[in-house]
Amino acid sequence: METSRTTWRESRTAPEHPRPWELPAADGTPLYVHVPFCEAKCPYCDFFSVAGEGQDVEGSLEALIQELELRAPRTPETVFVGGGTPSWLSVDQLERLFDAMQARTSFRDSATEVTVECNPESLDEEKARALVALGATRLSIGFQSLRPETLELFGRVHAVEDSFAAYEAARAAEVGAVSIDLIFGAEGQTVAEWREDLERVIALRPEHLSCYGLTFEEGTLFSRWLEEGRMERIQEEQELELFRATRELMAHHGYQAYEVSNFSLSGHECRHNVNYWRNGPYVGVGPGAASYISGVRFGNPRSLEGWRRGARGGEASSPWSEALSPLHRLAESWWLGLRLAEGVDPALLRERCGLSVGEDTCLPEAERLCEEGLLAEDQGRWRLTERGLELADAISGRLLSAGL
Ligand code: SF4
Repeated sequence: METSRTTWRESRTAPEHPRPWELPAADGTPLYVHVPFCEAKCPYCDFFSVAGEGQDVEGSLEALIQELELRAPRTPETVFVGGGTPSWLSVDQLERLFDAMQARTSFRDSATEVTVECNPESLDEEKARALVALGATRLSIGFQSLRPETLELFGRVHAVEDSFAAYEAARAAEVGAVSIDLIFGAEGQTVAEWREDLERVIALRPEHLSCYGLTFEEGTLFSRWLEEGRMERIQEEQELELFRATRELMAHHGYQAYEVSNFSLSGHECRHNVNYWRNGPYVGVGPGAASYISGVRFGNPRSLEGWRRGARGGEASSPWSEALSPLHRLAESWWLGLRLAEGVDPALLRERCGLSVGEDTCLPEAERLCEEGLLAEDQGRWRLTERGLELADAISGRLLSAGL
């Protein structure tokens, strides 16, 4: 899903801030709403999400609304309803959720972008129209693959034609923008197949595309199958070829690579996610959702029962929180910001973190990365080079370590 690489893992450290959910979020702070239900759980997914059937969905909706009332920011600039699969909810449930969001935040008047994550099996024209009427400006659809055998491997419940039907439904509803999610790097995938699939998706002219390489996250069935030898990772060189082919095709068809794995037509970058990469503040509600306010990052319980108990009792609870030091904030800003094509301006980052150039321990590491040809500086902004892009995670790790 589009949010998949911008959410925070639950930290194992005890809360460093006694009641972080009471930190006031400024008006305009972006809002993330986590709907934890899906049709089925995919074996590669490490988000907090569960198959919805048999769950107390009504009770969770009630808790979500209570949590919104408790601490959602007023007049958010952007809203992202992610999951899970928000489109799995019925139109009636979505109405209640969006009306509660409006009552608390007035997002319909303030937000310049309201994204809702959808999956093909639960997005028809009626639902797409309802979402647009409720305030959605952007629908993000999880195609993931155009190969039946890969969809089966990924445990997806939709067929290839369902993805195209969902896309048509979104277009018929005249939503402002559509984003499509794809995953590359399944075992056996060839570059030729991937290019063919990507061309078919690009031909639809979605305003935005997210293309992530398959990962094996701890605690998922995929990582267990990998350990047991029931699955294999593709070779690193093959993954690089797929990554290069993605960037080359996107550029050829007029999509800007505004982030390492995200591509858009001009003016259609996901503003909500750009705020994450710029290390801006946000409020997240729902089970497992993270928030970042006044330099404190904290998360909700990754359990439906634990989260509901807190939200229903009129008091959120956070199993973890981190009060970030100025240097930690600086390192994270480098780490996240370098993913963006716009890069980072170290002087601006230092100013935001209240640090002097002498205190900036990331800068010497960035200079070393420059000497290695992985970063380049131009008029005060630092960016990944083509070679650096292919090593983005390792580079970010080095910068993060330099600041901690
Ligand atoms: S549909 Fe999305 S959120 Fe739900 S289990 Fe699958 S990958 Fe995870």
